[in-house]
Amino acid sequence: MKRDYYEVLEVAKTSSDQEIKQAYRKLARQYHPDVNPGNKEAEEKFKEATEAYDVLSDADKRARYDQLGHAGMDPNQAGGFGGADFGGFGDIFDMFFGGGGGGQRRNGPTRGNDLRYDMTITFEEAAFGTEKEIQVPRHETCSECHGSGAAPGTHPTTCTQCHGTGQVKATQRTPFGAIQTSRTCPTCNGEGQIITTPCKTCNGKGMTRNIKTVKVTVPAGSEDGLNLRYSGTGEAGLRGGPAGDLYVVLRVKSHKFFEREGNDVHCEIPITFVQAALGAEIDIPTLDGQVKMKIPEGTQTATVFRLRGHGIPYRRGNGRGDQHVQVVVATPTKLTDKQKELLREFGEVTTEQQQMGKKSFFEKVKENIRDAMG
Ligand code: ZN
Repeated sequence: MKRDYYEVLEVAKTSSDQEIKQAYRKLARQYHPDVNPGNKEAEEKFKEATEAYDVLSDADKRARYDQLGHAGMDPNQAGGFGGADFGGFGDIFDMFFGGGGGGQRRNGPTRGNDLRYDMTITFEEAAFGTEKEIQVPRHETCSECHGSGAAPGTHPTTCTQCHGTGQVKATQRTPFGAIQTSRTCPTCNGEGQIITTPCKTCNGKGMTRNIKTVKVTVPAGSEDGLNLRYSGTGEAGLRGGPAGDLYVVLRVKSHKFFEREGNDVHCEIPITFVQAALGAEIDIPTLDGQVKMKIPEGTQTATVFRLRGHGIPYRRGNGRGDQHVQVVVATPTKLTDKQKELLREFGEVTTEQQQMGKKSFFEKVKENIRDAMG
């Protein structure tokens, strides 16, 4: 049972975008896998919160969710931005944390924003790991003015109104005496300094928007929703503050043949009833290519065989999961008269019990039928 997204983020349905962002930020800091190494529960909570935030932070998705609930969310789309490839960064690019901690002076060093990038990979890439290059648009410290915003050769001057503090004091007279308040300096907007000759490259902002190529290493055994953190690869900080982090969130595509459960993979293989009755050696596709598997004589449909070590490698530690192969016995169709005749003959020389295979199961069914008929 999926929890309500608002409940996950502990916000009201009427919450503003800002409140949702703050709620997510709080949960992300609390449950991020880097803060809770090896803690599965925290990891689940982080994933849950990230998924909820993906939807509630997007006006279209949120409206759809409000109207239809989880049923309105395509499980492959909820939270996913990219498609098969990750061109067009515009929409897969999403800033999420606000810059720096609250309550900082506006003219102090400020940490850069964290960035999030959703990357879609194949089932096999998640299983065995891969390396990919992604193009991340981000704000970088201007190389021309080194972030000062002042044209090379010039310097920002200290604001004369606030003397560089960014704050101005005002005295208010009230019946109880004078009260002193401080507010952001209107001359420099709290920066503490004024750029008289702005840098032409960044228009005095100190930052430019560039595309950074990041080499992402996906570890073997990665699963859908896994976050890879690239410390200091987010947006540049302000006034000497550190850069934010880049979070690459993995979206693993489903496989047409295998289903994953933890580190094990499951698949279904059809076999003929002759193979099932007489036993056979059949070719089974695995993540490592085809392997031969022996089916014993008298195999029943839905029997599950285990191919040890053909599952997904463990992300932490050595070894791999197993592959579970469920055989499904097919009933022959479009038989010729000759073939039907042979089957009839077969039917005559075998008892029903022999044909039903499992003796105990057969007898149980018969007993149930007898009971039912009273
Ligand atoms: Zn500049």
